[in-house]
Amino acid sequence: MKKCGNCGSKELSKRNQKGKIFPWRDYPAVQLIADVMFMECHQCNNVVLSVSDHQKLDEVIVKSIQYATSSLIGMILLKSKCTQVELSIHAGVSKEYLSEIKSGRKQPSFQMFTLLKILAFGKDAFSISDPKYELIDKIDEYEAG
Ligand SMILES: [Zn+2]
Repeated sequence: MKKCGNCGSKELSKRNQKGKIFPWRDYPAVQLIADVMFMECHQCNNVVLSVSDHQKLDEVIVKSIQYATSSLIGMILLKSKCTQVELSIHAGVSKEYLSEIKSGRKQPSFQMFTLLKILAFGKDAFSISDPKYELIDKIDEYEAG
């Protein structure tokens, strides 16, 4: 009989984890894109994973990061009317690396993922991330009020 490692309750049942958030490697949080059933505690909602569950969770997390990364890059290219090469210059990464994370051959670092989120959803983020952005002028303007 399995029991919850957190509260000791034996009231566990399989529940779909789609949409829930799990930590993974250097990611503090990844939202799951696909259906995956894991045992969950009724008392404290703790998820109890078996060895094979860990593997399944890993696969869904990789798929979720791939989906989000590819979507974010697509959004940035469309919104900022830029090329993948231009985006790689703004992000300070090689165009090969950008292409690898877009196609899902590699998972981006959490920092890279966060940068893509900001570039995709931040209003002026793409122009600010231009390496030629006149930063000192903008700081002076800011400090002058
Ligand atoms: Zn519990």
